[in-house]
Amino acid sequence: MSGYRGRFAPSPTGPLHIGSLVSALASYLDARAHRGAWIVRIEDVDGPRTVPDAARDILSGLARFGMHSDEPPVWQSQREAAYEHAFDRLQATGLIYPCGCTRREIADSLLNAHARHATLAYPGTCRDGLHGRAPRAWRLRVPDGEAAHARFVDRWQGAQAQDLATEVGDFVLKRADGVWAYQLAVVVDDAEARITHVVRGADLLDSTARQIYLQQCLGVPTPAYLHVPVVTNEEGEKLSKQTGATALDIDDPVATLAVAARHLGIEIRDAGSLDAFYAAATAEWAKRFGP
Ligand code: GLU
Repeated sequence: MSGYRGRFAPSPTGPLHIGSLVSALASYLDARAHRGAWIVRIEDVDGPRTVPDAARDILSGLARFGMHSDEPPVWQSQREAAYEHAFDRLQATGLIYPCGCTRREIADSLLNAHARHATLAYPGTCRDGLHGRAPRAWRLRVPDGEAAHARFVDRWQGAQAQDLATEVGDFVLKRADGVWAYQLAVVVDDAEARITHVVRGADLLDSTARQIYLQQCLGVPTPAYLHVPVVTNEEGEKLSKQTGATALDIDDPVATLAVAARHLGIEIRDAGSLDAFYAAATAEWAKRFGP
């Protein structure tokens, strides 16, 4: 095996659907093309959104499609101590602060700001103190000016730029309901698992600059990123259970995988077996994204 370490990190909100299968397949093919490790992480940090049995359904679905984690799957719900530790480190550097704003207040101030043609970033109301209000969420300070200009090159989407100060603002690391924010959990977990390559859906492209900034704040390496196009329905919405994703045909996994591969621009006809499918699909993927 090479030093490559990749992962697939589903949120257990329902069984696999074509959108999540495409992300799983892309991360799996990239790991195979690099002769690396592929690790599944169940992102169940957000307890309230977690659907009972969904994680089990996802893992058995992946197995049916011939994708097996090279290491025991990581469960975010068991990693609270690691998030707490990272949070404490950030707190010690003075980079985080409590925020007393309600969603309503933020929405109102954004509406006002929008009327003045400003952007939709958190306006920084609590940066310099809670103004007598009770703390709710905890936010990470982003830099101002030139230092806020984040740039990275995505292996699929190309050069990306985001101004953290004007497009994002100080972002939440711990939510008002006490749940660790996705941004913190994903950065801590990718670092701990020594993930070298992140391959996932393009709906997360917008989170990447925040994650890179958080990696810098924590002094951990930044992996390479590749964001595959999201699968959408006819209305152009990201496919999910809510937007009409139908159950996958797992009786004919090779045919279903061929459909997923087509979303990645890979045409595999009549592979006949999972092994033949993966051999052909990995070779195709490697032509574009191989080492
Ligand atoms: N859990 C996220 C999702 O299912 C993916 C997170 C990631 O790949 O960074 O959308």
